[in-house]
Amino acid sequence: MPRCPFATWKPISGSSGTYTGGPFKIVHHTTEGSTAQGAFDAFKKHRSDPHFTVDATTIYQHIDTGSASRALKNLPNGVQTNRDSAVQIEVVGFAHRPKTRATLENVRRLCRWIEATHSVPKVWPNGLPKPAVNGQDPGGHNRNATNWDTKGGHYGHSNVPENTHWDPAYTKPEVDFLMLEGTEGPETVEGLETIPFDDPGMARDHSHMPDHADPQGTSTEMPAVRRKPAAKKKPPVKIDESPTGSVKTTEAPAGKKRSTKDTTPHKID
Ligand SMILES: [Zn+2]
Repeated sequence: MPRCPFATWKPISGSSGTYTGGPFKIVHHTTEGSTAQGAFDAFKKHRSDPHFTVDATTIYQHIDTGSASRALKNLPNGVQTNRDSAVQIEVVGFAHRPKTRATLENVRRLCRWIEATHSVPKVWPNGLPKPAVNGQDPGGHNRNATNWDTKGGHYGHSNVPENTHWDPAYTKPEVDFLMLEGTEGPETVEGLETIPFDDPGMARDHSHMPDHADPQGTSTEMPAVRRKPAAKKKPPVKIDESPTGSVKTTEAPAGKKRSTKDTTPHKID
């Protein structure tokens, strides 16, 4: 039963059962949070563990890759998702932010191990994940169910049938960086400079995809709501209040629009 030899074993909710079909595939997610511990708490609460959680320092394994994990939504009458030989990785971070080099290097190492262990080809049958546009869901994701059912390879959560989340939203350079062979240097990645060594802003950010860790999406699958014109977030206001001209950034003052906040369901991503 496959446990990755360089992963830290950390069981949480256990497997969702045996696989019901193949071929093997790798599903990439983002945790929609800034720490592994925050992700573990959410997985425990929702019983939504992937096989692996990866951050810049550690590869954690929660479930043996010989049985199914739990991070995908699965509808009663469609294809199997979690149990269709999907080996799932949650990358600590956000769909709308860049992924750091150290984290991607860990994901890459893990992917090579999964590919070798379960004969997963280095292809993306439903296309590459689509990156965020202005920090939001770009839409138009290919979730072809026949490919999913019949073709091994890599899939973003955004490319899995029956699912609505848009993670991991890798950019093209991030995918190229992930798919490098051991013999290829990172300098062969076009756009390498867009992959940061560190992302200090991540710790203060929040998800643009509410409650990603709940695969059944109870908070994102709201009954049809009248769609307001895209609720715009106020950008931080820059106030230059010092005589020397150094600029301070403050939160936007509470506006009148706030009155609707508590009664409005989360925007559906
Ligand atoms: Zn996901």
